[in-house]
This record gives sequence, structure tokens and C-alpha cells, in this order.
Amino acid sequence: LLRADDVWKSFGERDVLRGVSLTLAPHEVVALIGASGSGKSTLLRCLGLLEPIDDGQIFLGDEDISDPRVDGNRVRARLGAVFQSYNLFPHLSVLDNVTLASRVVHRIAKKDAEARALGLLERVGLAGFARSHPDRLSGGQQQRAAIVRAIATDPEVLLLDEITSALDPELVGEVLELVRALAGEGTTILMATHEMAFARDVADRVVFLDEGVIVEEGSPAQLFAAPRQDRTRAFLARFS
Ligand code: ATP
Ligand code: MG
Repeated sequence: LLRADDVWKSFGERDVLRGVSLTLAPHEVVALIGASGSGKSTLLRCLGLLEPIDDGQIFLGDEDISDPRVDGNRVRARLGAVFQSYNLFPHLSVLDNVTLASRVVHRIAKKDAEARALGLLERVGLAGFARSHPDRLSGGQQQRAAIVRAIATDPEVLLLDEITSALDPELVGEVLELVRALAGEGTTILMATHEMAFARDVADRVVFLDEGVIVEEGSPAQLFAAPRQDRTRAFLARFS
């Protein structure tokens, strides 16, 4: 469904992605792990067309979305992305945040977009905050609202970048539960995470990125219990 083929990306002199190839099958949940600075966010941003790549190709379905002639806005409308923090527009209500893309990009009537948004907010326990501004919500509620905004347009792939790392520990669980539910419903998800226990539980596959290279990938059971590479072992040792 989403495929990176030998993707290279540098910032100035620094090669941040050095030939990354990665395929996401429909309904697959893939956890991207790796040390700080290994290139996880850069990879997610490149895949989401938020950052141009230097070499290689990215396919969404059959379409080469890394082709410079591609209309980036049209492609981004097929993806959902949530980042660590600052996801919601502070000057808009939660409901307006969630419906903005549906209305502006997908041109869905306000009434229909709001009905769907309210249903989703209800589902994550946030219906009561629909008319509130984001600053009235806790960090966990804001991230759940950001996820609702990302899924409101029925994206083909959900890209999640450390969506719990800015949260107080007691708020992490409620956000992960929502991701777990989406995974259970068959949403295709690529998530960068430091939550190893969660990755082990929810991911179909774990990919370990080190200095811009995929060093190892495998099922959570294999990769966490019996990593094949020294670098993977050294990285995982920090979490045990
Ligand atoms: P973390 O776990 O801390 O989020 P990460 O794996 O997401 O780390 P990236 O944010 O992708 O790592 O960064 C990889 C490298 O690319 C880092 O050395 C970073 O400084 C560099 N980098 C990222 N974005 C930029 C940018 N816009 N300009 C210059 N350098 C950048
Ligand atoms: Mg990052």
C-alpha cells in the first residue's frame, strides 16, 4: 500500500536516510524504533510528503508519489499524520479542527462532516469538548482529538510519530488504547515509538532504524526476543 524504495535524504552534509526500503501492506501495523536522531521522523515526514527526498521512490498504491510532478496536496489528503505535539490549530474549536480537512480538502458538506466528526469524538469520549478550544483539553485528550482529526477523512495510511512522548505518563495509556483500537479495525499504521511494550503488543512488524539504515526487521516476537544484529541488541538493552 505504501512503499519506500531506496530512499535517500540529507540535510546539508548529513545523510539522514541512507537507502531506506520499506513496504506497508494493507491493514498492517508497523512500529519504527531506533535511537534519537536515527531518522524515524525524517522517514515519516518523507513518506507523508512533508519533506522532499533526494533519491529513491515512494509509492502509494500504484502511484509514484515522489515524482515531483505529483500534486502533493492531493496525495497528502489520502494520508493521515499525527506528530508528537502541536497537532491542533489553537484558534479553532475541536470540532472545526476535526472537520477542516473534510470540508476544505474533500469538500464534504459542513453538516455531514460535523455529523461524522461528532460520532468519532463521541467514540473517544470527547463529544463534550467539540465546541471547546484545544487549550481546554489535557495533553492526552488533545492527542486523541488529533488522531480523530487524522482519521476523519478515512486516510489510506496513518503515520504516527511518537504521539505519546510529550505526554505525562498517566495520559499515555488512553492515547495508546485508541491506536490499539484503530489497529484492531484494520487501519494501516506506521508508527515511530519508544513504547516498546506497546510495539510488541500491537505491531505486526517492527523495523529498527539506525543511522538512517534499516538494520533489522521482523515480527515483534522475533525482534524483541531474539534480535539478530548486535546493533539491535545494544539498542534494546537500554529498555530492559
Ligand atoms: P527522535 O527519536 O529524537 O525523534 P528521530 O529518529 O526522529 O529522533 P530525526 O528527527 O529524523 O530523528 O532526525 C535525524 C537527523 O536529521 C538528526 O541528526 C537531525 O538533527 C537531522 N534533522 C532532522 N530534521 C532536520 C532539518 N529540518 N534540518 C536539518 N537537520 C535535520
Ligand atoms: Mg523523531
